[in-house]
Amino acid sequence: MIKLIAATNNAHKLKEFREILGSAFDIRSLSEEGFSIEVEEDQDTFLGNALKKAREVARLTSHAALSDDSGLLVDALGGAPGVYSARYSGDNATDESNREKLLREMAPFTDPDARGASFHSSVVICFPDGKTIAGEGDTRGRILFEETGENGFGYDSLFYSYDLGKSFGMATAEEKNSVSHRSRALTDLKSKLSLFISED
Ligand code: IMP
Repeated sequence: MIKLIAATNNAHKLKEFREILGSAFDIRSLSEEGFSIEVEEDQDTFLGNALKKAREVARLTSHAALSDDSGLLVDALGGAPGVYSARYSGDNATDESNREKLLREMAPFTDPDARGASFHSSVVICFPDGKTIAGEGDTRGRILFEETGENGFGYDSLFYSYDLGKSFGMATAEEKNSVSHRSRALTDLKSKLSLFISED
């Protein structure tokens, strides 16, 4: 099985990576492999950030690297927070402070139909020889008026998924993985990788 070093220590993302690609790859986190690498996400697209992280981790570890960059795009806010989703409420942002800011910004939009939003994910595998493969995925929904459910992370409790008919915060991991932006991006990536993958 090919070892892939995930360019993240986010436990939620690692779990999702393993649930979707784990049958084909031995996915290890940076810290499990004894690396401490911070790559600044300073590109203006999700794909640009994912490429930057995967390339840097592959170069520094000499292993194949998997990275994703993802975020929430709210129609009424012109696509914000977008690539700034993790630090929407400032340099010391937490998931909670980001959700509070989103609720404040969305307060003028009282019609549920005016609260449409997407999650987007770009995922990239970069091999040590520099070869890269990318996948992209989206999922549609709308921003709720208050937090609903305690599952997931980030904006999950504020995102009502049209595919699931409930918030990501109310969804089980299995339900979220069946429709999420990250699982769609990973499935897209996996289809492009099919020549490299052996499922046995
Ligand atoms: P990054 O991909 O680690 O840069 O994270 C971007 C930010 O987008 C996260 O901190 C979350 O706030 C948000 N985000 C990305 N994916 C999800 C998701 O699946 N659920 C909820 N929030 C997400």
